[in-house]
Amino acid sequence: MKSIQYAIIGGTGVYDSGVASDKVSVQTEFGEIEVDIAEVQGNSIVFLARHGKQHGIPPHRINYRANIKALQKLGVKQIFATAAVGSLNPDFPTGSLVLLADFLDMTKQRPLTFFEGGLDGAKHVNMDDPYCQNLRQQLTDTAIQHKVNFTGDAVYICTEGPRFETEAEIKMMRQWGADVVGMTSVPEVVLAKELGMCYASVGFVVNMATGMESGPIQLVEIEEMLSRNKKIINRLFLGIFSKKPDQQNCACADSIVYL
Ligand SMILES: [Zn+2]
Repeated sequence: MKSIQYAIIGGTGVYDSGVASDKVSVQTEFGEIEVDIAEVQGNSIVFLARHGKQHGIPPHRINYRANIKALQKLGVKQIFATAAVGSLNPDFPTGSLVLLADFLDMTKQRPLTFFEGGLDGAKHVNMDDPYCQNLRQQLTDTAIQHKVNFTGDAVYICTEGPRFETEAEIKMMRQWGADVVGMTSVPEVVLAKELGMCYASVGFVVNMATGMESGPIQLVEIEEMLSRNKKIINRLFLGIFSKKPDQQNCACADSIVYL
């Protein structure tokens, strides 16, 4: 099979790329992963539904290493992800689209790395730029062209889940500088960087976090929002692939430090 450079990892509400595709199973040492492969404007892209097609896998049970390893085996160099998030920042109200810029990690019990020592020795991955600044720039530029409005850059705090946060936790997270909260971006972004891939993620705010001021919101409103945002995000990502982003403007392919 020929190498495929680009991938979309769809989060909550984004279970397909919106274009015709073929299903492919990829075997990795961490497990087997099913992806869709589509042809878009002369590019092959991989689509991976993070939670499975039926949203059956909760955040703490996702096989993050198998997902990222499968993408690497297909040849992927750039990953565009989506994440449904809660907002801790009144400037990012429900319905906002934000660009993830950095993260705080409060996960507790998931495999966090491909680097397990042994013959490989101790390896560490650089986190100067966890969300690739090159891809973020491409997303910003393409959003302007497609009249998609990003409300701002956001610091994402990743919790273990599947429970939501307490009001006291949200107060603490705000003091730490978190703007949005979710349950999946870590270790996904870290694992991608460990394998030298560029990774960017668009967050869409589906609710205000526990204890934050918000009007009443119905499940049907969230579903409508997810459906609307899915179309916008797919259009944005497909617009970027036509520009053929590469790794010339970033150091993501060289992020490993050996000690
Ligand atoms: Zn990069």
